[in-house]
Amino acid sequence: MPRDPNEFFDHEAKSRELEDASPPEIVRWAVDFFGKELCMSTSFQLGGMTLLHMLAEAQQGVPEAEKIPVLFVDTGFHFPETLAFKDEVVRRYGINLVALKPIIDRETFKRFYGDDRLYERNPNECCRINKVEPMQRALKGYGAQLIALRRDAGGDRAGIGIVEKRTDGKYLIHPLANWTREQANAYLKQHDIPSHPLHAKGYKTIGCFPPMCTVPVSEHAPERAGRWTGTGKAECGLHQVAKARPAADFSI
Ligand code: SF4
Repeated sequence: MPRDPNEFFDHEAKSRELEDASPPEIVRWAVDFFGKELCMSTSFQLGGMTLLHMLAEAQQGVPEAEKIPVLFVDTGFHFPETLAFKDEVVRRYGINLVALKPIIDRETFKRFYGDDRLYERNPNECCRINKVEPMQRALKGYGAQLIALRRDAGGDRAGIGIVEKRTDGKYLIHPLANWTREQANAYLKQHDIPSHPLHAKGYKTIGCFPPMCTVPVSEHAPERAGRWTGTGKAECGLHQVAKARPAADFSI
């Protein structure tokens, strides 16, 4: 039964209760409780593929157009492998994909910033324009978002709750919060789920293709070590929307 937006919802109590639930149980709860208010976002990495499979299992028999929308931020800087893998996964699982684009096209971007290498000079601003703003704009249409973050990835992620409420009243659902990277990998193997091809080449997480944004790392390096290496930047801001400037601040 989808949530009545006017009902009282104690998300902190629910989050505590769900600490003992399995990720597929949490996904099923979110689908039932939030109904059409729910969306998922992913860039088709390890956790995203795990969650996509659980979401597909929870929606068996649902026509594609009525499935929970899956948001993908098409930054314009993705690896070709990411775009090809996305297309393969969408076909295989019949995903209701919603591709999000930056508010300005690449030519306008280059005219305004002089070139398209803003990621070298100001990666926070580059992420804000190409990732965070498109996501903020899209999320206005939803009340809750499924995200594949795990606590064992470290940094800010170590403290996530199963259910969180953003400052704008929308909910974040983290079904994999309690899982490790090894558990997610085992789930992919158990269910014969395809994996992003760059994981096998040493990329533990995969963002945009410029080497300053994403590089492969050694087997024992921390999961986020390959992102914006040496810049001090750890997150793109997609998962810190509540702290980010509102989309209305965007101006060129
Ligand atoms: S990951 Fe890099 S290229 Fe992609 S939006 Fe962020 S700074 Fe720009």
